[in-house]
Amino acid sequence: MLKDVQLTVIGKVFKPNRRKVLALNRCLEEYHRLVKWYLSLNSTSKNWLHREAYEKARARFNLSSALIQTARDKAVEALKSFRETRRKRSQLNLRRVSIRFDGRCYSFSQTTNALTPWWLTLTLNNERISLPIVYGEKQEELIRSALAGEYAFRTVEMVKRSGAWYAHIVIKRTVELKEPETVVGLDMGEVNLVTAVALVDGRPSKGRFWRGSETKRVRGLYNHIRRRLGEKRLPGKIRELGARERRRVNQQLHIIANEVVAYARQFPAPAIAMEDLNGLKEDMRFSRRMNRRVHSMPYRRLQKYIEYKANLEGIDVRYVERAYTSMTCHRCGHVARADGREFRCPECGLEYDRDLNAAINIARRLKRSAGWGSRDTPEPADEAAGAKPRTNAGTSATLPNGSPALKGGEDVTECYENAGVQKYSYLQALLGSDDL
Ligand SMILES: [Zn+2]
Repeated sequence: MLKDVQLTVIGKVFKPNRRKVLALNRCLEEYHRLVKWYLSLNSTSKNWLHREAYEKARARFNLSSALIQTARDKAVEALKSFRETRRKRSQLNLRRVSIRFDGRCYSFSQTTNALTPWWLTLTLNNERISLPIVYGEKQEELIRSALAGEYAFRTVEMVKRSGAWYAHIVIKRTVELKEPETVVGLDMGEVNLVTAVALVDGRPSKGRFWRGSETKRVRGLYNHIRRRLGEKRLPGKIRELGARERRRVNQQLHIIANEVVAYARQFPAPAIAMEDLNGLKEDMRFSRRMNRRVHSMPYRRLQKYIEYKANLEGIDVRYVERAYTSMTCHRCGHVARADGREFRCPECGLEYDRDLNAAINIARRLKRSAGWGSRDTPEPADEAAGAKPRTNAGTSATLPNGSPALKGGEDVTECYENAGVQKYSYLQALLGSDDL
């Protein structure tokens, strides 16, 4: 399967002269007004906006036709996302905007200039300006491979932050995702930021944990400073701090994402399964305090990093429904409340690390839904229909599929082997049913 992977390479505009800065500032002001004007038309139809408003925009705003079109696209995107996430009586207030240049109005090249080899030329309304760009090591590597033809150049977003200008260059590559054989399930949580486990021939292999304590430490530290600054009423400083914190947290997330992909790569033709975290905020299972803590962790950003890094290696990434993954026994499918760090199954006696258990369930769910590499005989339809999760504690000593229950106190991994549970048909029936 082919998939487009997009990356954003951020570089800083290095000491632009006064004329260029003024030109950029003027352009930003005009562009911001234009996006707001498009928003006031209150439409998400690009066709309608083009038909009804393009000529008026040309007459009213001093911007090139390419910029008028990207401003329209930005307004449509902003309005769509606002309509999807709006709360009651809230208003769309476009505080900041970046200027989007598409292929018609920018060029990027490598030169022999002593200051920096990287130069970005932008066509503003009726003038062209060339800007020297400086990159970090990783970004420079990406830009080189893009110029060598490994990526296609898409758009450039010119972003103004704390008085400085940054060029966010979006590059794209089409990758071939390999047909998967091994599913690697990833669970994200508070104690273990990521827990990974691969299903090799349907069996969970040795898992791995990423504690995320560094991320949490950074967050905690900055929260503390923020509170102190809040007491002193220094909102400007607080915003600055936000950007710094983000950079430090991002660094950690990139490291973890790289390691997660490396973990997956050691298995034959891996695919990665993660939970779809949409709607997590509305989840009322957590207390308010717990919610705040949970959502202060940047799970989605981490997922995005893992996804593109994996995709670039040809590894497919899929999202599975988030339901009962941490409450379901991965061996017998019984649904029970997890208590503390251990998952104890009242039905079959399984004792397992809570996050590992969840990661196995996530991997299984994908395997089940995609039918990937499953070697188990499909369960007869009537049995599958009868398999429903139960929340009451059971006492039976055998699993529904006849395997012996585990004795408590054994080592969980070993236990798994000893029990001789080769089939997960009951569980698979569960995971495949609509009840979950
Ligand atoms: Zn069980």
